[in-house]
Amino acid sequence: MSPTRKILATAVLLGAAQAMALPMAAEAAEGKVCKLEISGNDLIQYDKKELKVAGDCTEVELTLKHVGKLPVASMGHNWVLTRTADVTAVANDGLAAGQKNDYVKPGDERVIAHTKLIGGGESTTIKFSTSLLKKGESYTYVCTFPGHSALMRGQLIFG
Ligand code: ZN
Repeated sequence: MSPTRKILATAVLLGAAQAMALPMAAEAAEGKVCKLEISGNDLIQYDKKELKVAGDCTEVELTLKHVGKLPVASMGHNWVLTRTADVTAVANDGLAAGQKNDYVKPGDERVIAHTKLIGGGESTTIKFSTSLLKKGESYTYVCTFPGHSALMRGQLIFG
């Protein structure tokens, strides 16, 4: 191979490497999806008192698993995220909204994200944008099924 051809071949290879790198760069610019998992059981407990979302996450993908056996009507669980200041009011309004609304008041602007209500053996996944969260703010997640909100709650920390 002549020196000129060798330089050309190298340039082609570099070009190919750049072309391959482009989709990865585009993905990084789109954001970082951070996955969280939490479970609820038949003893009215979440398995985590705290969930952390790193400050560079742009989206959260949260999976709630019900590891118990009881049906949704007697031991339903959901995961409802609000500012800590709003949690009592959100839980009370959720109770009034009833099971047909998964115990979440429809259109409640204080609710940052929530899953549907699930029974034993089920799981559900939601995604939400961290643009809804502020660093330094105190957030609480809670199950709004009747009688659960005092026991099933924890802190979500962003940043
Ligand atoms: Zn519950």
